[in-house]
Amino acid sequence: MPPFWRRFSAPRKISDRTWNACLAAYPFLRRVGPDRLTRLRAMGEAFLASKRFAGEGGIRVDDSIGVAIAAQACLPVLELGLHWYDDFEQIIVYPDQFLVPRRNVDAAGVVHEETVWLAGETIDGGPVVLSWADAEPMAASDVFNVVIHEFVHKLDLRDGEADGVPPLPPARRREWIRTLDEAFERFNGMIDEVEAAIPPSVDPDGPEGQSFYDALPLDSYAAEDPAEFFAVAGEAFFLTPDRFRSAFPALSEEFERFFGLRLRG
Ligand SMILES: [Zn+2]
Repeated sequence: MPPFWRRFSAPRKISDRTWNACLAAYPFLRRVGPDRLTRLRAMGEAFLASKRFAGEGGIRVDDSIGVAIAAQACLPVLELGLHWYDDFEQIIVYPDQFLVPRRNVDAAGVVHEETVWLAGETIDGGPVVLSWADAEPMAASDVFNVVIHEFVHKLDLRDGEADGVPPLPPARRREWIRTLDEAFERFNGMIDEVEAAIPPSVDPDGPEGQSFYDALPLDSYAAEDPAEFFAVAGEAFFLTPDRFRSAFPALSEEFERFFGLRLRG
């Protein structure tokens, strides 16, 4: 089926009804406070007018889907500015997770071709791809947020490098790398401790094994590499700011400076 393209024509006003439904579905958006929330809505309107949405696999990107994505996508750039997203135009929405080919070279130099299911993908200089089943209000949680995750990758990729470091002035960049690396290493240490605590009789990938990881301050996927650490930590910064601050105080401060937001809750 060909994608269903939709460009929300400018100026694209978000109705009170759609906006209020969005805030009820994603209550963490309110953490920015009433004044910034008004600006978030206006930025969401500008976002809808400047991006092109494609519904793949039969999904129609209606107002509620467009506004939900716009509001959450704009949250990380509320103080940075919408120009941080001006290097791409498309947002592709699938009804559910989508299959993507992956090519991996292992330590022995052997090339593995495989396909993986993804809830979201960010292509450097290209579209953000999202599974609506993972982004819709029913899927809202205080651990995962695929929209924030993918758009934080966009900030990271702004300089063409998926390395957990967004473009920053040189002194700030050094400070960012030092702070992010320290938090990343510490989180990997926490993962090692959890793995050591799982008895051999328990499958680490099963539900019982998973319960050992639940005590971690971030989803274990954050240990993948510094780019995923930035994206997963970014989710925690917006979803559970108090918890994130107590686990990673220095990184939380670094994020507050970068995003220009001091959130509570
Ligand atoms: Zn990611």
